[in-house]
Amino acid sequence: MREIILGKCGEMALKGLNRTDFESILLKNLRRRLSCFGGFDVSISQSTIYIRPGEGADIDAAFDAALKTFGMSAVSRAAAFDKDMDAIFAGAPEYLEKYLLPVKSFKVEAKRADKTFPLKSPEICRELGGRLLDAFPHLNVDVNRPDVIVTVEIREREAYVRAGQQKGAGGLPTGTSGRATVLISGGIDSPVAAWMMARRGLKLSAVHFASPPYTSKRAEKKVMQLLEIVAKYSGPITVYVVPFTKIQEEIRDKVDEPFSTLVMRRLMMRTASIIAQNNHSLALITGESLGQVASQTLRALCCTDDAAALTVFRPLIGMDKEEIIAIARHIGTFETSIQPFEDCCTVFTPRHPKTRPQLDELEAQEQRLDVESLVAEAAQAAEERLIE
Ligand code: ATP
Ligand code: MG
Repeated sequence: MREIILGKCGEMALKGLNRTDFESILLKNLRRRLSCFGGFDVSISQSTIYIRPGEGADIDAAFDAALKTFGMSAVSRAAAFDKDMDAIFAGAPEYLEKYLLPVKSFKVEAKRADKTFPLKSPEICRELGGRLLDAFPHLNVDVNRPDVIVTVEIREREAYVRAGQQKGAGGLPTGTSGRATVLISGGIDSPVAAWMMARRGLKLSAVHFASPPYTSKRAEKKVMQLLEIVAKYSGPITVYVVPFTKIQEEIRDKVDEPFSTLVMRRLMMRTASIIAQNNHSLALITGESLGQVASQTLRALCCTDDAAALTVFRPLIGMDKEEIIAIARHIGTFETSIQPFEDCCTVFTPRHPKTRPQLDELEAQEQRLDVESLVAEAAQAAEERLIE
């Protein structure tokens, strides 16, 4: 008996003429991702992905990686058989044992892509159902609410038997939408925003602003750990760590306190825009959500936007914190995000921040700084790292 991994393409199956471009990027992403787990033959036919492990390949690790690959809407493990019912009857009970022993009921479904196969779908279901009842006398057939659905697929090359399937990461294959740069803090929101946009096919770069000695090496490490979790889905991320201390001290010393956060956020946008343009990004991504804090009121966001040289994607804009946390838990960033380390945003927080700022007021405040050279210097000094 050979075990393989089957994947279903999600919405990319709906694409028209450029569907094959999406498919070849998905195959390339999968091959690269699986290469560290041994040899795999990865192919696609009629919107189904076939991952066939070679000798000694780690199929458990490959299955986990496939579940985290964008572009796959469902993933399952299956036993592959020659297209011969006797071979299936002989091998299926043993393969299904680990799925069927712990449950009480099942049903069999058959999909017959090969219409020349001698048995029709209802016959396949009846025959295999009978064999499984013989092999597992504790089981009942329940066609309405079975604990496990056993699926037999008769395809072109061979037949597959599987028990259930898992939801995949969905979205579009990474790299099919170009590149964007995420402004990443150590908080809950920005890793979720990064994941959501990578899921739409974007390759990610990242910018993190660090303000030593006000922020610690440990805080920076936490950000790298968050990016490592996101990279399990998105593939490698280049992160630029920007020394931000000088800018923050200048703002603290020269800008009126109520304006300081927004001036800082505008300088973040300017610096991130320079770095993003240098790495060929077409957009910035932030974890902002409307009204969440004083710097995320509508007026504040308009002022922040004005300082960005690129389109700003804010995928969390209409989400409640609870919804954001649910995604953070789902993708596995939550526990890391809630570790208590300071962020440069919270270092010099004003007591009474402006919530209804006017752009001309902010511009007047910025006259007190040499914005252009501060920003150019910070972008220039960014330290580049590859997160895999
Ligand atoms: P998060 O939970 O992502 O930290 P937040 O709700 O705490 O977000 P802010 O601290 O106001 O909100 O930050 C808003 C957005 O600005 C973040 O989601 C992130 O995109 C960006 N940001 C904040 N701090 C940094 C930083 N140190 N480096 C890079 N980007 C940052
Ligand atoms: Mg934050």
